[in-house]
Amino acid sequence: TNFGFQEVSSSEKTRRVTDVFHRVARRYDLMNDVMSTGIHRLWKDQFIRMMNPVGEIHLLDVAGGTGDIAFRFLEACPQGSVTICDINPGMIEQGRDRALDRGITKRLKWVCGDASALPFEDASFDFYSISFGLRNVTFRIKALEEAFRVLKPGGQFFCLEFSKVQLPGLKELYHFYSFSLIPRLGAWIAQDRDAYQYLVESISQFPDQAQLEKEVRAAGFDNVKFHNLSAGIAAIHQGIKR
Ligand code: SAM
Repeated sequence: TNFGFQEVSSSEKTRRVTDVFHRVARRYDLMNDVMSTGIHRLWKDQFIRMMNPVGEIHLLDVAGGTGDIAFRFLEACPQGSVTICDINPGMIEQGRDRALDRGITKRLKWVCGDASALPFEDASFDFYSISFGLRNVTFRIKALEEAFRVLKPGGQFFCLEFSKVQLPGLKELYHFYSFSLIPRLGAWIAQDRDAYQYLVESISQFPDQAQLEKEVRAAGFDNVKFHNLSAGIAAIHQGIKR
């Protein structure tokens, strides 16, 4: 199956993304661990450290899926609260179950909604985060503008996403790993090769660090910068709404 974005219309992309996450929701956490050999956990820890949340911060975690960012944030910020917004009810269900399993019921709200048309009023949140989500959003520029809109003045934007590897040798190795091994792993573990083929293609078509930095700035943010993780396999972009 070719999931290439250029070849499909936007509504088709939205439909496919919804379908992919619906199919993999149950196996999603396990696959994350297998594919990244657990490194995604370290990246997420680093993401929270860079947020450095202190006090009564209200975070909107978009594409919050199974709660990975929200749970870490609540632990790091005892007075903070999180609204998780995800387009997929299946992912939200998984996240709710996980929250209950961990005994997390307070300071956490789940909302089903689209990153590119957020169901929130202007200037509602102190922080906005999107972790491994922006890549899946059909209208990325719109999503960045929405992030800007729902943040309060002084609010901070954080994005964790796959990016472009900066080391020559690692680049080839990573390319082989992603295009050849990941779809196979997906077939074995999640019984869904296509979903993981989509994952790999969406990563390779996502803008590089500098391009995304430009887009975040174009959405209105100031002090925009990025920080590479694992030589650029992933990157954290951040910005401030003045
Ligand atoms: N944030 C979690 C993490 O870091 O592990 C989950 C990331 S998961 C790869 C991507 C999530 O994006 C899925 O839960 C999917 O439902 C959600 N998603 C895809 N398109 C979206 C959109 N347009 N608006 C909101 N969420 C979206």
